[in-house]
Amino acid sequence: METARTFCRNCSAACSMEIDVEHGRLIRARPDGEVSPYGAYLCPKGLASVEFHNGAENRLLHCLARGVDGEFAPIEAEAALDAIGAKLAALVAEHGPRSVAVYHGTGAYRSTLGALMERAWVAALGTPNFFSTMTIDQSAKWVTMARMGTFASGRHALRDLDVALLAGGNPLVTHQGAPFALVESGAPGRALEAARARGMKLILVDPRRTETARYADLLIQPLPGHDAALFAAIAHVLLRDGGYDTAFVERWCAGLGEVRAIVAAATPEWVAARADVPAEQIEQAARWLGEARNVGVGSGTGPSFSAHSNLADHMIELVNVLCGGYRRAGDRVRNPGTLRPRAFYEMAVPPTRGFEQAPQCVSAPTGQLLGEFPSALLPGEITADSPDRIRALLVFGGDPLKAVGDPAVASAAFAQLDLLVSLDSRMNETGKRAHYVVAASQPFERHDLTIAADALYPEPFAQYAPPIAPKPEGCVHDWEFFWALSARMNLPLTFKYWSYGQRFEDITRGLPLSLTEKPDPEALCRFLCGESAVEFDQLVAHPEGLRPDTPTSFVQPAPNAGGKLQLMPDDVAAEFRAYADERANESYPLQLVCRRTLHTLNGAFRESRGARKRYPVNPAWMNPLDMAALGLAEDALVEIASPHGTIRSLARGEDRLRRGVVSMSHMFGPLVGTGYPLADGGANTGELTSLVDGLASVNYMPRFSGIPVRVTPV
Ligand code: SF4
Repeated sequence: METARTFCRNCSAACSMEIDVEHGRLIRARPDGEVSPYGAYLCPKGLASVEFHNGAENRLLHCLARGVDGEFAPIEAEAALDAIGAKLAALVAEHGPRSVAVYHGTGAYRSTLGALMERAWVAALGTPNFFSTMTIDQSAKWVTMARMGTFASGRHALRDLDVALLAGGNPLVTHQGAPFALVESGAPGRALEAARARGMKLILVDPRRTETARYADLLIQPLPGHDAALFAAIAHVLLRDGGYDTAFVERWCAGLGEVRAIVAAATPEWVAARADVPAEQIEQAARWLGEARNVGVGSGTGPSFSAHSNLADHMIELVNVLCGGYRRAGDRVRNPGTLRPRAFYEMAVPPTRGFEQAPQCVSAPTGQLLGEFPSALLPGEITADSPDRIRALLVFGGDPLKAVGDPAVASAAFAQLDLLVSLDSRMNETGKRAHYVVAASQPFERHDLTIAADALYPEPFAQYAPPIAPKPEGCVHDWEFFWALSARMNLPLTFKYWSYGQRFEDITRGLPLSLTEKPDPEALCRFLCGESAVEFDQLVAHPEGLRPDTPTSFVQPAPNAGGKLQLMPDDVAAEFRAYADERANESYPLQLVCRRTLHTLNGAFRESRGARKRYPVNPAWMNPLDMAALGLAEDALVEIASPHGTIRSLARGEDRLRRGVVSMSHMFGPLVGTGYPLADGGANTGELTSLVDGLASVNYMPRFSGIPVRVTPV
């Protein structure tokens, strides 16, 4: 038996791990805390890594092609790549590069080389049609950046915060923390415990008393859909009492007068009545925020999924700005990055409003957010009556058909594609409807670097992971897939170290790739370490990972006058006024909110033993008093109806949930349920959503949380 040192690829926390390997077979995984900045830590998804590698989730071991009879048949990987390359080349020749789109799913974040080769391929092709999960569960944050601007020094690290306010996030379960959800991604409980031990106060805003709430000093449980008002009320108190950071706001912000005008009526009492929370809690939160030096105000997925998502996210960031919740010149930067260290400046970067510029979508008057079109518009971009409509979609590690909601509209759109390809290690709803399914290799069969976590680790750290198991013959490395298509389409690629916020064409350092000689993945990793604080050879020599021996980094003063954050643009103010005039839909007395589970991530990792045992279905969790009022027994079969659809699930009591709310996990069950949730393995809450009505501004997000519903016994 040998022990390999590597890191988990199941989320961007990239926790270090040891894996026992016997005769080429992976046996078990253990946390490896020798060098990792989290210490020894693996969550259930990490512990189940070996199970996934060894075949859980019905791993695909060969590629599939749909025949003329409509059925899948196995196909050699090279033949599949030939056919896909030829079809893409024909579509591009006839309709141009914009006829091709790529969707980057949850699984694609598990592969550094695959994700960067995908970016290189999209840039070489010249299509603007890039979609990802980021414009689904985080898109409101991108809208806020585009409308307010960003602060270049970044938020304080959890280890430096005096008060943290987190809305609609449960990092103890999601392991998705900094920068937006404030907490450290790996070992989040330990990090919160340490922060509280040194005196940090944690304020949580969530309709549910989540697992993270056990560390909270103050828990505010509003009705869903009122986050914008709640944060407007906190801003109201900060401005009323002079608790905001006047020096920061005067130096770096514009629009304070407009903020005052908008939040003037948002008194704690007005908001308390709408959101059904005690006004004293709003006063308390504002007081703590106003008194603290280092403040962080952020959010998880909840506000991005709910009604008025862009407005809510803007108001959350507004409170952070009013508190000056960013590092200043002279503040320590705990992790400036290892594989690509960078300098941080005290400077406002003004809003780009990039979504108003070219390229624009063909189905709606909006454009890109951080270089991507909104995923909710993917179906519309396929069906649009436009010469620039999408005709081919390559799906890398994801299930967009299920992820975008409203399966009737999404399925009809996907059926119009001339070419749908799923590059994945497992079958999913999108794959079932694809023309080709390309069986992808698994993480432990690939070369990788901790690029995804490089800036997210709490301290500088990097790790290199060579393969520890051979790739099955019928599978294709994801990076190889994109390179192979470029070779077949005669599209020369330049491989680059790209990260969010960068335009691919602006990155000057690149590695031109041959069209005939397949790249060596180790050489690609070596290239990616070209600006690293640790040499690639050092990483190879230290499979446990390395912490660079570099001097402490500090935020630098602004190199120029910088811009201003726009606190209250006209469109945000108009959205707030529209929210204030809105009345509840009394035909649907409850609201369905989303919740994450510890063992899964979006549609992934459902099939581990632990996940199957705990979540044979995604129950409809309800407050026991609401259940009693409806005459529902535990595990009663219920019908959940929204204005747009109906699903069935099992009602289950949870007194941690406030009244008036039903809580369910998304991405469960088949695309369209049969009405028997146990047989289906859960229900798809996407059936309750609409891709036509009630979409958000700018990103056209459907409402995935805070959905008005009616629950009835079956
Ligand atoms: S937190 Fe993420 S990286 Fe760490 S073990 Fe869990 S899934 Fe893996």
